[in-house]
Amino acid sequence: MKPALFDYVRPESLSDALALLRDDEGATVIAGGQSLLPMLNLRVTAAEKLVDISRLHALQGTNDDGTTVSVGALVTHAAIEDGLHREAFNGLLQRVAAKIAYRAVRNMGTLGGSLSLCDPSADWPACLLALDASVIAASADDGEREIAMEEFLVDAYTTALESGELLTRVVIPRRPMARWGVSKVTRKSGAFADSLAIAVLGDGDLPTRVALTGIASCARLLIRTSGILDEDREATAATLAEAIREDIVEVHEDVTPYQLRCHHHTVSTAITEAQSWSK
Ligand SMILES: Cc1cc2nc3c(=O)[nH]c(=O)nc-3n(C[C@H](O)[C@H](O)[C@H](O)COP(=O)(O)OP(=O)(O)OC[C@H]3O[C@@H](n4cnc5c(N)ncnc54)[C@H](O)[C@@H]3O)c2cc1C
Repeated sequence: MKPALFDYVRPESLSDALALLRDDEGATVIAGGQSLLPMLNLRVTAAEKLVDISRLHALQGTNDDGTTVSVGALVTHAAIEDGLHREAFNGLLQRVAAKIAYRAVRNMGTLGGSLSLCDPSADWPACLLALDASVIAASADDGEREIAMEEFLVDAYTTALESGELLTRVVIPRRPMARWGVSKVTRKSGAFADSLAIAVLGDGDLPTRVALTGIASCARLLIRTSGILDEDREATAATLAEAIREDIVEVHEDVTPYQLRCHHHTVSTAITEAQSWSK
């Protein structure tokens, strides 16, 4: 199917893009187009005007200030897969990027597009929750604001971005020594996850954060599980298993036996992988 007619504009600067979004309520941002274009083609969504941000210089590139890495919204999954700031996160971002869809999608799909769409099964939200990241949102009238990932992910296909706001960058605390684990279950290669768990173990003052996707309307932190891994180093496998079960049931009341087994498997596998790194 073809999409319904829309206007198209490609602003040259961030301020032009923000002005367009402020002045035209019918304007929709397009970045890599990997999710938006199929949705327009299938007519599950419509746009009066597409604002193409793909050439905005301000949303490209990355910056490492020694404490955090700031990644432009337009950085693609493929660029991360190919090794962008590999050392700053001990390779975690590469591992996650490489499992998103297939290379043709990764060549075009962007970090900002994935987060802004907030698909309930997307990979980046869980990863960035586990890394305690935040996003920078910009608007024409109010300038920039920083939003922690927990507040940014509101519901399925719903973020804390307000009308007229653009996600410009993602700020991630550096974790060069991170001990992490990732486990993803998909029905076929390149598909969205039935379940994706990412565990980043605590280090010094930094707490453990275990995040899960596929469990609710959007990715969630597993609070009990994360807490037990920090507070009770002697916790038995049974104690940990019970914490994982309680976390899953709390955020997904109607969980089916398959989903419970699936989520339990990904969470425990991610934790075991994280614990296998030498300190
Ligand atoms: C076959 C296939 C398989 C896939 N498998 C996976 C998978 O396994 N895991 C996974 O995580 N993803 C998967 N995806 C989604 C893919 O990661 C997309 O790249 C991503 O969801 C959207 O990025 P994009 O840059 O293409 O955004 P677009 O499609 O251009 O935009 C998506 C939405 O975000 C908005 N938007 C885009 N950028 C911004 C911004 N900077 N600020 C504000 N709003 C913005 C748009 O208005 C639109 O609503 C898959 C996609 C396909 C086609």
